[in-house]
Amino acid sequence: MSRKSKPTRDIYIRPRAPAYPPKKHEEEPPKRFDCPKCGMAAVTVTKLVRSDYSGHATIKCGKCGLQRRYEATSLTDPVDVYGMLVDEFFKE
Ligand SMILES: [Zn+2]
Repeated sequence: MSRKSKPTRDIYIRPRAPAYPPKKHEEEPPKRFDCPKCGMAAVTVTKLVRSDYSGHATIKCGKCGLQRRYEATSLTDPVDVYGMLVDEFFKE
């Protein structure tokens, strides 16, 4: 007769509780986006930044092969690159 130990992990369900200040050690953000072409969440961004203000980012869909390259800096976020892709895609 062991009583069920029910862990109280309900806290995890709460949306974004800023209990702690953001860590200095940045974790890798999820770099997968929905492809504007095929709709799969298979779009990844690879940044190649040589210096603070020079570099580029390649965004590519692993499903349909959609690929673009944009200028990027160390401040460019993967989501910015994704935004450029979406803008360009729906402009056509
Ligand atoms: Zn795709």
